[in-house]
Amino acid sequence: METGLIFDIKRFAVHDGKGIRSTVFLKGCPLRCAWCHNPEGMVNKRRIWQVQNRCIGCGTCIRACTQGALREKKGQIHLEASRCLSDGSCAKVCTTGALRWDSSRMTVEEVMEVLRRDGIAYKKSGGGITLSGGEPMGEQSEFALAILSQCKKEGFRTTVESCMFTSMETIRRFEKVTDDFIVDIKIFDNVRHKEATGVENHRILENIRELAARRELLIRTPMIPGYTDDLENIREIGIFVKKLPGARMELLNFNPLFVQKYRYRGEEPVCPPGSPLSREAMELRRSILEKMGITVLK
Ligand code: SF4
Ligand code: SF4
Repeated sequence: METGLIFDIKRFAVHDGKGIRSTVFLKGCPLRCAWCHNPEGMVNKRRIWQVQNRCIGCGTCIRACTQGALREKKGQIHLEASRCLSDGSCAKVCTTGALRWDSSRMTVEEVMEVLRRDGIAYKKSGGGITLSGGEPMGEQSEFALAILSQCKKEGFRTTVESCMFTSMETIRRFEKVTDDFIVDIKIFDNVRHKEATGVENHRILENIRELAARRELLIRTPMIPGYTDDLENIREIGIFVKKLPGARMELLNFNPLFVQKYRYRGEEPVCPPGSPLSREAMELRRSILEKMGITVLK
């Protein structure tokens, strides 16, 4: 039976497509964005998280860890991620949930059981299921396709949210079971894109251009201070999007809360926490795109 690693299923989501949705987050992503807001989605492997405020300092986990990856400091446990094998011995003995897995291995049927709970809400609101990540068209693409196929059999609308760093063959397989695509263009300049995400963007832009000839896309650009939010980047992306038939855009503001997820692994993000863009700064960026004739979602 097909199984996969899921790090969250967000019910009653309203930002990942039309209507009320359930968004399924799959592990594994080919990019390494400096600002990744879901770092647990990067690697297709279960990992241990430490949730500091649940720790009562009993020390049981230190005795269970054969790698010396856990140390006590001021009554709380600290995880040294580089030593951790993610074998889960500590989570087994921690009774407070301070050490726990960042994801679950699930079958397609187990995922569907959760998704079916809100079937009426999807139908009444014109919503459905969104697959996100990580990258649904990445390492776990077979699992993602199995979920999407089952959703279609059960009459649920489907959306895939993707970074588009994948093959056109994979995209064509997803098209058969996906109603809507939400795709990211983060940085238009290829050198800057590679520095910030670890990969070049030629394939991403080519895939988007080709898919836009068949589907009306929603293109998302995250506003990350110092990485993606400069007006030159917005204009360059706008010039590209303007040529795509029916494509709309959405700018997503920076959310500094993501930093906590790195700390669950005893790490710090490459991108410093920073502040979200002001309402005026977001409006200025949207208006640049709107003046180019692009529909921008609010
Ligand atoms: S077993 Fe859990 S509660 Fe006890 S010290 Fe370790 S993390 Fe903290
Ligand atoms: S999962 Fe990591 S921290 Fe926990 S016992 Fe194993 S090596 Fe130690």
